[in-house]
Amino acid sequence: MHELALTEGILSIVSSEQKKSAFARVLEIDLCIGEYSGVIPSCIEEFFPLVAKETAAEGARLVMKTVKAEFECADCGFHGTPEKHAACCPVCGSTAIRMTAGREFYVENLIVD
Ligand SMILES: [Zn+2]
Repeated sequence: MHELALTEGILSIVSSEQKKSAFARVLEIDLCIGEYSGVIPSCIEEFFPLVAKETAAEGARLVMKTVKAEFECADCGFHGTPEKHAACCPVCGSTAIRMTAGREFYVENLIVD
């Protein structure tokens, strides 16, 4: 699983922010997780206390927001969220659809003290 590496990535963002703004403690970390990112939120939650131990982020609350997948059809211009696992455009049936959102994973906000 890559959740451990992702959790370490979150912590490295926290420590670089800390260098910039010298806060003592992180109260909350807001994460955005794309529906199709493959990231399992419960794994992040499990690794976080281990990785955050003895850092400014120890004890911080994790808030995870799911980002809905969005697709764009190259044939009719449809843009939106079709049925999950649909492999074609819901308007014209074309398979020339491209994912425009839903694979992201990033720290949206840090609440610090
Ligand atoms: Zn279409």
